[in-house]
Amino acid sequence: MSNQDSRRSLASELAAAADAYQAAAVIPHCSVCAKPCCRLDALVLELEWKQIRTFWKLGESRKTFDRQLAAGKGPEEIRAANGLYYVHSKPCPAYDLAGHGCTIYGQDIKPAGCSDFPVYEDMGSVTADLRCEAVNLDALVAWLARAVGPAFRIVQSADAEFPFLVTLAARKKAGQRPPRA
Ligand code: SF4
Ligand code: SF4
Repeated sequence: MSNQDSRRSLASELAAAADAYQAAAVIPHCSVCAKPCCRLDALVLELEWKQIRTFWKLGESRKTFDRQLAAGKGPEEIRAANGLYYVHSKPCPAYDLAGHGCTIYGQDIKPAGCSDFPVYEDMGSVTADLRCEAVNLDALVAWLARAVGPAFRIVQSADAEFPFLVTLAARKKAGQRPPRA
């Protein structure tokens, strides 16, 4: 297997392990979470126009909505920038406050970032967002180590600006070769 194929294979294993960790340790906790991310108290939700239009049940054109937003007459929790919309400080309209769940779970309209949060593969490493109370960093490191096997160790590094974002990279142990596919 070439180095490039090995890297792709490792990235796939990490992606699968991140998804499995979410399914096993994060999603079951969402219904009892003390600080649900979907309330957007701490997190900023990035949305495209089609999501803004659907979530806020808008009938007007994007141009009209953008004009209203720029004039301070749109929803105060939405900011527009770079062709996207950023929502913060009020619960996501798709969040069921009473049931503690996403009402568009599994639908195409659901933002990709929602499915990624709080543990996801990115550029061959796993990013963990520790703002989610369900993430146990030690348990996640052990989970990933099991997934990639004994030829690798998991190295952690926190983002300098946002230390709650931790990158977990699989590094080959000295003198070890990755297992053949
Ligand atoms: S912060 Fe974590 S546990 Fe809480 S609702 Fe969000 S994903 Fe679920
Ligand atoms: S779309 Fe669903 S998962 Fe994403 S913030 Fe809204 S309620 Fe939460």
